[in-house]
Amino acid sequence: MANHLFDLVRAHLPPEPAQKTVIATPDGTRHSYADLIARSAAYASALVARGVRPGDRVAAQVEKSPEVVFLFLGAVRAGAVFLPLNTAYTEREIAYFLGDAEPTVFICDPGRADTLGLVAREAGVAKLLTLGADGRGSLSEAADAAATDFADVARKADDLAAILYTSGTTGRSKGAMLSHANLASNALTLAEVWHFTADDVLIHALPVFHTHGLFVATNVALVAGATMLWLPKLDAKQILSVMPRATAMMGVPTFYTRLLKEPGLTREATRHMRLFVSGSAPLLAETHRDWATRTGHAILERYGMTETNMNTSNPYDGERIAGTVGFPLPDVALRVVDPETGTPLPCGEVGMIEVKGPNVFKGYWRMPEKTMAEFRADGFFITGDLGKVDARGYVHIVGRGKDLIITGGYNVYPKEIESEIDALPGVVESAVIGLPHADFGEGVTAIVVAGPEARDERAILQALEGRLARFKQPKRVLFADDLPRNAMGKVQKNVLRDSHAALYADAEPA
Ligand code: ATP
Ligand code: MG
Repeated sequence: MANHLFDLVRAHLPPEPAQKTVIATPDGTRHSYADLIARSAAYASALVARGVRPGDRVAAQVEKSPEVVFLFLGAVRAGAVFLPLNTAYTEREIAYFLGDAEPTVFICDPGRADTLGLVAREAGVAKLLTLGADGRGSLSEAADAAATDFADVARKADDLAAILYTSGTTGRSKGAMLSHANLASNALTLAEVWHFTADDVLIHALPVFHTHGLFVATNVALVAGATMLWLPKLDAKQILSVMPRATAMMGVPTFYTRLLKEPGLTREATRHMRLFVSGSAPLLAETHRDWATRTGHAILERYGMTETNMNTSNPYDGERIAGTVGFPLPDVALRVVDPETGTPLPCGEVGMIEVKGPNVFKGYWRMPEKTMAEFRADGFFITGDLGKVDARGYVHIVGRGKDLIITGGYNVYPKEIESEIDALPGVVESAVIGLPHADFGEGVTAIVVAGPEARDERAILQALEGRLARFKQPKRVLFADDLPRNAMGKVQKNVLRDSHAALYADAEPA
């Protein structure tokens, strides 16, 4: 009987799996593909022995280690639904996710077992298990003692393999239900379009509780039979030190801006690399340009989301255009529609991006109404992202639907204003938000990170006068030392909106 996702991994094993390294860590530890098969079987046996049945959720908040990959595959082989949780989540947040997902087991770091044990018990979770980044804990001990030949639980392509909560950038995180087919199709497509082979050595410094680190980077490497250089987190110096042994890297834009600060980033240092991929948040055109100048490589930007895995990618062979996310992936249909009416818009016009394809998830966990509301009758998923497709077919992301500012009845796209501000001398970056305003509904407000010479509200407003229509001009420009970001490098505009909510409280209604 078939276990859809794991059969895919097995079908793509490199020749001599016992020899071939799947994960190497900086301390010199190497795990082979044979270890991956054996260790995931041991986790599957241990989970089944602890009562995990097909379709049960296996939730884990564990630090990044190779064991997370083996556990993920073990849960899938046991027929369970893997549910990784952000390691930054607090007890309160964990309580919410456990209550929502009702997993059979919850796995956490041994150091947090006391506090999270209480949380799990209150949430009604039957079993608490532990797994540390050092490989110790009750679950790892159970796996050490378990048999390594496991008969995989049969799963159909449409059965769930994972539930992944969205990042919560625009509101409360939602559990995206991802099937075996969703994950499998995405891994195969990306491995193909990005030309991954068993000769590849991928720098993996991403967290493994998001789509990017687990379902893009890890799964692509696995179905190509490639090797991953497993780094605990983004550390520019460490990445540079392993680069001579690598061929590819996947990162969020912060990876690239941090690496650009390192004098060691040169053409020579990146000579063996064949691919740099960026996604999860917009890559500034300036970063794209500086990277090309310093290294000779054009970063390949792609666009995806928890609900859909990857939707688009700049071409591997062909022009990678800064500020675009490239073309829809094979088998992914993408259209831009009028957000109100759902009518498709002509090329070049900004509207709501909608997608349909094997990558698109099965719906939000226990949110049937929300799921209904986000799908059109013809099966297209409403991404919530605003964008356009240009005459050459490249997709541009303009911002988020929820990010759109409506001021005095006009629609204003923050990204357009941010681009103008970012181009001013001395400005590092900016975030434009709408704040409650009695007269305009929302007041356009710019939060700017700039050097001391550029921290001048009047000068910035004057500079923007000739560049932006009057209704797009910020009412106020505020300065900050940096912008609040989450682990994936996304600017948290809700944090900015909350902290400045009362800025126009004194504005007179018209
Ligand atoms: P939530 O849905 O909970 O508000 P989120 O949308 O940030 O959070 P994710 O699924 O992690 O959660 O992120 C997907 C979003 O990230 C996309 O919808 C898009 O807005 C943004 N994104 C991803 N890649 C890119 C990119 N290359 N350029 C611009 N935006 C991107
Ligand atoms: Mg989202």
